[in-house]
Amino acid sequence: MEYSPIVQELIQSLRQLPSVGSRSAERYALFLLESPPEVSERLARALLEVKSKIQPCQQCCFFSESPICPICADQSRDTKLWCIVEKPHDVLKIEKTGAFKGLYHVLGGRLSPIEGVAPEDLTIDLLKKRVEENPPDEIVIALSADVEGETTSLFIAQLLKGMPIKISRPATGLPAGGGLEFADSVTLGFALNGRRQIS
Ligand code: ZN
Repeated sequence: MEYSPIVQELIQSLRQLPSVGSRSAERYALFLLESPPEVSERLARALLEVKSKIQPCQQCCFFSESPICPICADQSRDTKLWCIVEKPHDVLKIEKTGAFKGLYHVLGGRLSPIEGVAPEDLTIDLLKKRVEENPPDEIVIALSADVEGETTSLFIAQLLKGMPIKISRPATGLPAGGGLEFADSVTLGFALNGRRQIS
């Protein structure tokens, strides 16, 4: 005896989530089935709402409910200092340190010939356009210290070569492989304050 197709579809859709294996997916599905309808309704509403209302900021590609995100719209921030990160949640991670008061640019990933990630798959064109229209004095490239992070940083440094923009990297302390995800707030704050110029 198997679950009915509708329940199987729920289990399969939960399995699409990262770190959810078949046993967890089944457990979540059964939990929802056994819970009052409000629990599922709330979840369904939140899923639909987040997908219809959250979009990338037109300027920095951070998650936003409006065309321009609250960070880009904040007049008190230093518009001449930018920080390039891989994922939207890296922005939140850096914001938590309180060590950075500039603007961001979310790349959406890292260059990886092995995984087939090319410059056109990232927001590099938008970055270039943004830099040409409104050049900053300094760009901090805060990507993880692994091969893909290094490749991407070099690519961007090359792209901006010849422009009067200081390119820097956070000081040591960013772990390889996990983006900024695994750096604790204090380490990250120190790394950003002690950044070193690379070109
Ligand atoms: Zn923005």
